[in-house]
Amino acid sequence: MLTVEEALELVKSRCGPLPARRVPLGEAAGLRLAEDIASDIDSPPHDKAMMDGYAVRSADREKERRILEEIAAGAVPHFALTPGTASRIMTGAPLPEGADAIVPVEKTELIDATTVRLEQVDPARGQNVLYRGSSMRERDVVVQRGAVVRPIEIAILAETGHGAVAVVPRPRMAVLPTGNELVAVTERPGPGQIRNSNGPMLVALGRRAGAETTDLEVARDSYEHLTQRIVEGLTHDILVLSGGVSAGTFDLVPQVLAEQGVEQVFHKIALKPGKPLWFGIKRGEATNRTTLVFGLPGNPVSSLVCFELFVRPAIAALAGHGFVQLESFRAKLVSDYEYKGDRAACLPARVRHLPAETDVEILPWAGSADLATLTGANGLVRLPAERRRFSTGSELEVLPI
Ligand code: AMP
Ligand code: MG
Repeated sequence: MLTVEEALELVKSRCGPLPARRVPLGEAAGLRLAEDIASDIDSPPHDKAMMDGYAVRSADREKERRILEEIAAGAVPHFALTPGTASRIMTGAPLPEGADAIVPVEKTELIDATTVRLEQVDPARGQNVLYRGSSMRERDVVVQRGAVVRPIEIAILAETGHGAVAVVPRPRMAVLPTGNELVAVTERPGPGQIRNSNGPMLVALGRRAGAETTDLEVARDSYEHLTQRIVEGLTHDILVLSGGVSAGTFDLVPQVLAEQGVEQVFHKIALKPGKPLWFGIKRGEATNRTTLVFGLPGNPVSSLVCFELFVRPAIAALAGHGFVQLESFRAKLVSDYEYKGDRAACLPARVRHLPAETDVEILPWAGSADLATLTGANGLVRLPAERRRFSTGSELEVLPI
């Protein structure tokens, strides 16, 4: 059976960035730019006051100055300063001709409507002035291709007139839970039934990982129903199924996927929980659309573990961020733990970040359907594939969840 690392390599080698697309600026946050962004303006567009005060000529030395006008932000000055004059000016407003410094209003005293006395008569040239083009010049590249668009980049894209930009888009991911036993959240399960908890969980996991998700709702374990939903799912960049990949009589997923032209890359990995994981790829014949297909085990904890280990980095890679996995950290085990497994494990655990150290407790666990225990977990402890006794204080590798 494949190890987790081998399986990850197989997934990684099939994940590349999606083709670039233009999106409105409001939708670009968090995405990776697919073009260099140039400015169409000088910024600031004029020599600009950085404080409320008086625009003056720094060479003048008179204590009292004649006020020529008041210049608000958004207005243009009407008078050039001559020796002995000043103009009242607001932050952001353009400097009048002849002015080369701003004396802050706090350092002045208004004598009458046309006269101001300066406490500071010798401002430095350029004091409180931002010169035209000092932040950027027209045609300067202000954000480079490959940058992630953060709120600050949104601001500069807006300032430089980019209402739409080319980005690597958010991967489109469909979620398809399968199983005759499943009923919707809004229903009360009858005999033999359980609610579909994986569907909503996988949608939330997909969104958190940066995908645009579509919930395809539960598919029954029948050829017809599964086929119809899988065909719909294959119009996305990623199709995530839950259930139907184990060894049961009604585990039809691999067969239906094969009939729909999805080439199997692997089925089953040496992981606990998560052994039945299925992965394949469908390459479109006419179009060059590719769909990555993950068949996750139906048990909710297995589904979560497989999603976080395999689907999350695939979403990141399609979005142009590279095959980025959850970043693990180390924590000290709080009580002895005996691991009897022959597969690598990813076990729900509770991590505490204390001032001096981080510790971790592996949660008592009633098998991979135990969502109630998982709710108390904030980490997954990774153990190697060997029988071993871990004593209190052992340093273990943990993934945050
Ligand atoms: P399967 O992989 O289809 O054999 O399912 C394994 C286990 O996971 C069974 O106990 C299922 O009832 C359970 N299961 C499958 N799908 C879901 C789901 N969408 N939500 C909650 N439990 C599920
Ligand atoms: Mg099933």
